[in-house]
Amino acid sequence: MFDEQQKVRVGYTREMARKVSKKYNLVPPVDVVYVAQGEGFDVEYELMAVCAQFNRQEKVIVVNKNDHLHRQRLSIAHELGHIFLHHDIDFHNYNGQSNDFEKFRNVQENEAFEFARELLVPLKHINLFNKEGLTIPEMASRCCVSNEVIFISLQKLNKF
Ligand SMILES: [Zn+2]
Repeated sequence: MFDEQQKVRVGYTREMARKVSKKYNLVPPVDVVYVAQGEGFDVEYELMAVCAQFNRQEKVIVVNKNDHLHRQRLSIAHELGHIFLHHDIDFHNYNGQSNDFEKFRNVQENEAFEFARELLVPLKHINLFNKEGLTIPEMASRCCVSNEVIFISLQKLNKF
């Protein structure tokens, strides 16, 4: 489906998330609003049909006010992914509803998700939590994310 050039840049994407973590001295639970503001973006909460959107020109990330905190944090981190990875989109709607872990629309969406995942749930930390014997809900609580994001992170950890 995709040629070599269009493949998700997993290494680069994670490296970028780690750079951002380092720049802002982040440890779980990562304050994604703090990062957005540090990059000059306002975070606003509104009623909307999608999870989030950002506008590079107006320097704003808008998040769905009705979403659960975990969803909102993932949405903000996702939009930060597009911002830091310099994806060629200035205005972006992120509809992260049903099945968004399996059904990504394109490479940029995959990269934004992987950036968000690594920012919120660094593999380094999940590895430590795993060694400490924490359960998935305990890890989720430490990172302030859903169990699902932890589960995906653990799967990625096992691949390396
Ligand atoms: Zn996106």
